[in-house]
Amino acid sequence: MTTPNSRAACEQLDQQDPLAALRDEFLLPDGVIYLDGNSLGARPKASLQRAQEVIAQEWGTDLIKSWNKAGWFDLPSTLGNQLAPLIGAQADEVVVTDSTSINLFKAISAALQMQSGDAQRKVIITERSNFPTDIYMAEGITRWLDRDYQIQLIDTPDELPQVINEKTALVMLTHVNYRTGYLHDMAAVTALIHQHGALALWDLAHSAGAVPVELNAAQADFAVGCTYKYLNGGPGAPAFIWVPRRHQAAFQHPLSGWWGHASPFAMQPHFEPTASIRRALCGTQPMVSLALVGCGLDIFGKTTMQAIREKSLALTDLFIALVESQCAAHPLELVTPRQHQQRGSQASFHHPHAYAIIQALIERGVIGDYREPGIMRFGFTPLYVRYVDVWDAVANLRDILDREDYDLHAKRHAVT
Ligand SMILES: *Cc1c(COP(=O)(O)O)cnc(C)c1O
Repeated sequence: MTTPNSRAACEQLDQQDPLAALRDEFLLPDGVIYLDGNSLGARPKASLQRAQEVIAQEWGTDLIKSWNKAGWFDLPSTLGNQLAPLIGAQADEVVVTDSTSINLFKAISAALQMQSGDAQRKVIITERSNFPTDIYMAEGITRWLDRDYQIQLIDTPDELPQVINEKTALVMLTHVNYRTGYLHDMAAVTALIHQHGALALWDLAHSAGAVPVELNAAQADFAVGCTYKYLNGGPGAPAFIWVPRRHQAAFQHPLSGWWGHASPFAMQPHFEPTASIRRALCGTQPMVSLALVGCGLDIFGKTTMQAIREKSLALTDLFIALVESQCAAHPLELVTPRQHQQRGSQASFHHPHAYAIIQALIERGVIGDYREPGIMRFGFTPLYVRYVDVWDAVANLRDILDREDYDLHAKRHAVT
């Protein structure tokens, strides 16, 4: 695609866009260009009615009957099955439950348990640039187990072949880096991990609904991810955990709550895990929030991840090309890979005054976000971002930079 050189040319791309109609499934405030769907997805219109239904009918009128009648008890599995095709999983391999951090805890502890027969496998490898909670959860588990586990942080993906060895128990990677948008080759990296007898845990927080994912084809061992980012489940919506059938019998984690029991309503005094993926559950789930995850997933049922990927690459290509041509006079540095096969659905630029510039953009209705150190991050969600939005976002960025129309003393909010 040659880069469109006018707003009208972008409008034309929107007219030809096969995903254009899906924007109408979302409620987006007027005057806002939303480039932060990688942090909190926009609201599906259907969510409000669904919330009303759950609160008024299922809770208000049907009360406790809804655990059966409205399918509440099964909902983690029902939604898991709906999500499965988006990440290359089979039915009964995914549940939507708890938070990503909690699901990391389950997956890391189950992996260490599966490797415990080999006393020398004491190392968990991950990236220094991983999202902090992933590293923190591994730190929490290893400190608490107190069995000489070590966490080894690598600085670039190419270090993995040099550091992985017979002492590696687990390699825990985030498929798309939250800051740079770097996309790992899941199949190749998993094959390397397996060659050394280690297990591969993938965090799909920035890939589920953003890029095609083929967990089974890649022979991955475990995966977790968020539903409130690209999947548009709503703020704090429950996350997901995937355990392939081949590992389900061996998958044991210490959060052995009653929802993971073989017969939860037998009320037995001892824990016996159910045979299915539901052993990854712990306890009662937040039904109002969980129900809304379905509204986001329903929209994905109207397209394919291939169509989403094509538009995602076109949007990020366009954004990068326009920023580099229109803002060439300014010290902006692309930190997202240019190569398609290494790029998720975002584009990040470094600038010494990134925080102030992001605040100025937000004031003009162009919402991206700031990540340390000095990075402006823009997420492109093909379901609702248009080519004209990319054009207008760059025009605003250029204007802010040219006029230095930003406040270097902009107050740091608690959430950046
Ligand atoms: C967003 C994100 C999380 C968030 O975890 P929560 O438990 O939902 O707060 C975790 N890991 C990665 C890689 C993320 O991008």
